[in-house]
Amino acid sequence: MDLTLLEASLEGQPPYRAGQVWSWAARGAAGYEAMTDLPRTLRQDLAARVPFSTLTVETERKARDGTVKVLFRTADGHPVEAVLMRYRDGRRSLCLSSQSGCPLTCTFCATGQMAFGRNLTASEILDQALHFRRLTEVDHAVFMGMGEPMLNLDSVLAAARRLPDAGITHRRTTISTVGWLPGLTRFVDEIEEPVRLALSLHAPDDDLRSRIMPVNERYPLRDVVAECRRYAAKRRRRVFVEYVMLAGVNDAKAQARALAAVLGREDFKVNLIPYNPTGAYDGSSRERIAGFRDELERARVPVTVRLTRGRDIEAACGQLAAAPRTRGVSRPRGTTA
Ligand code: SAH
Repeated sequence: MDLTLLEASLEGQPPYRAGQVWSWAARGAAGYEAMTDLPRTLRQDLAARVPFSTLTVETERKARDGTVKVLFRTADGHPVEAVLMRYRDGRRSLCLSSQSGCPLTCTFCATGQMAFGRNLTASEILDQALHFRRLTEVDHAVFMGMGEPMLNLDSVLAAARRLPDAGITHRRTTISTVGWLPGLTRFVDEIEEPVRLALSLHAPDDDLRSRIMPVNERYPLRDVVAECRRYAAKRRRRVFVEYVMLAGVNDAKAQARALAAVLGREDFKVNLIPYNPTGAYDGSSRERIAGFRDELERARVPVTVRLTRGRDIEAACGQLAAAPRTRGVSRPRGTTA
């Protein structure tokens, strides 16, 4: 729900009302009528004035492995996708979007190929989480959906700070970035909560990284890695490094050794991501991924291979992009095709 509108609508009420409403919503209440410690007339008044969610559900798809992907719309019509992942060990993790679309154009990522809409508000980010919270208890969140969190840091942090009320502690919240330096620097300076950081690196050198991630031209690898080290030192937590495995592009053993040299043993933990097809590349084979992992292990760099969830409903990493007919949302008016 729009928490600013909620505050405004509660004027004249005792100051604890907003907190009451929020804590019901954060615990998965289905609507205002469920908030039994609020006067009935107030519940009715809120229902009329403050929509229970800032997002409407357009489609919801469920994968064979239990993954659920939802396509939402903001009130002004922008598409937003989010995913609930269920793991065998019981973990329930949310993949949240920080923007509708993304202005960066990473060549392997489906979101990067669609039009950029706008930054989401903190309430729009939280409403993704609350949607799933109404289905099930949740305990982890990653800002790895659509968009670049460091381009929308205030809203992302405001949302992250409220996630514990929904059951997701700071230690189980991860913000992922391409290395957008102004936002990343502010994040490292300001973050006092034990929220975790992930860096989408994908290449061990500037040449290759610039080819597959144009943002690297602006903020080169060395500067970005240095900023992540500053986080690791300040918070005494390793930074996760995401590395999507592209056949014949970044998956050679020599590149694994170069990566180990860039990262060292102390500050990072590498997560190798099997490539989910979006058209642009071929994914590395399992053998290739295993060989790359072995090379990192030999160099004593902590490394895991990411479990892929929800591939059959295009809910896997990098596959979030609204269906073609919705892509025109932010096309400038008056342009001809
Ligand atoms: N902009 C931020 C947040 C999005 S995270 C960031 O890039 O970190 C999305 C993650 O999924 C990133 O690590 C991205 O590199 C990865 N990814 C993108 N496309 C992918 C694909 N097709 N297959 C697997 N992973 C992909």
